[in-house]
Amino acid sequence: NADTAMYHAKALGRNNYQFFAEEMNRVASERLSIEARLRQALARQELSLHYQPQFAADGERATGVEALLRWQPPGEGMIEPARFITIAEETGMIVPIGAWVLGEACRQLRRWLDAGLPPLRVAVNLSARQLRNAELVLTVREVLAETGIPPQLLELEITESAVMDKPEEAIQVLQALKQMGVTLAIDDFGTGYSSLAYLKLFPIDHLKIDRSFVRDIERDPNDAAIAVSTIALAHSLGLRVVAEGVETAAQLQMLRRHGCDEVQGFFLSRPLPAEAATQFLLRRQEDRTRRLH
Ligand code: C2E
Ligand code: MG
Ligand code: MG
Ligand code: MG
Repeated sequence: NADTAMYHAKALGRNNYQFFAEEMNRVASERLSIEARLRQALARQELSLHYQPQFAADGERATGVEALLRWQPPGEGMIEPARFITIAEETGMIVPIGAWVLGEACRQLRRWLDAGLPPLRVAVNLSARQLRNAELVLTVREVLAETGIPPQLLELEITESAVMDKPEEAIQVLQALKQMGVTLAIDDFGTGYSSLAYLKLFPIDHLKIDRSFVRDIERDPNDAAIAVSTIALAHSLGLRVVAEGVETAAQLQMLRRHGCDEVQGFFLSRPLPAEAATQFLLRRQEDRTRRLH
C-alpha cells in the first residue's frame, strides 16, 4: 500500500522517492479516470455479464452459472472486475451497478428457461456495500416478480468478509432474502476470518471453497486437508459444497472423490458471453439427452 511504498522509497533515497511519488501519482490518476468513466458506464451500456457454468461433481450436468461482470468502454479492451469493483464499492456505485447485474442475470435465466433448458441456477455476486443497503431486499423482490423465475434458482454469493463486516445487519438481510426462497452461498470460503460454526447462524445453503485451496490440492497436503475437512464439516452442517477454480482433471477427480457436490473452473468452462453460454448449455443438454437414449 501507499504507506509502505513511501517508507521503502524513503529508505532507498531521493531518486527512488521521486520514482515512487510519480508511480503513486500515476495510480491515483488512473483511479480517477476509472472512477469518472465508470459513472457513465451503466447509462452508456458498457457493462455486460459473462456466465461461467457450474457442474455436478461428475463434470457433466450443468447445475447453474455464475454471472460475472465485464466492462468494455468503447475502443478499449475488456476491463476485469479486479480493476474496478473496489472503486465501485468505495464510491457506492456498486449499488446501482449491482441492481443492474441482478436484473440482467435474472432476465437471461428467463430466456434460458423459455428456450427449454432444464432449470438451472444463476449465481450473482453481492458486495458488502449492497448487503448493508436497505434497498437490496426490495430490488431482489422486484426482479423476481418482474422475471417470474423460481426464487430458488437465484443464488446470491456473499464473501465471508462481507458477512463478517457487520454480522448482525447481515444476518437480518440474509434472513429476509431466505424467506423469499432465494439460494444463499458463501463465496471464497477459507480466505476470510470466520468459522463454519459461526456461519451456521446464517441461513446459507452453499459454501464455495476458494480457488487458492483447489490450486495445489494435489501437491500441498495442507491445502488438501483444508479442502477435504471443509467438505466434511460443511456436509455435517447440511451445506452443499462448490469448488471454484478447477483447472485440471486431477483436481476434479480429487474433489469428486472427497464428496464435493459441485465444481466450477477453467477445466470445465471459462466464463462465456451470454450468446456463447447459451450455445454451450444447449449443446450440453443435447449431448446428455443423446447419451440417455
Ligand atoms: P469470484 O466471485 O470468486 O468469481 C470467480 C472468479 O474466478 C472470476 O473472476 C472467474 O473468471 C475466475 N475463475 C473461474 N474459474 C477459474 C479457474 O479455473 N482459474 C482461475 N485462475 N480463475 C478462475 P472475475 O470474473 O475476474 O471476477 C473476479 C471477482 O470480481 C469475483 O470473484 C467477484 O468477487 C467480483 N465480481 C465479479 N462480478 C461481480 C458482480 O457482478 N458484483 C460484485 N459485487 N462482484 C463481482
Ligand atoms: Mg463469486
Ligand atoms: Mg469465488
Ligand atoms: Mg474469488
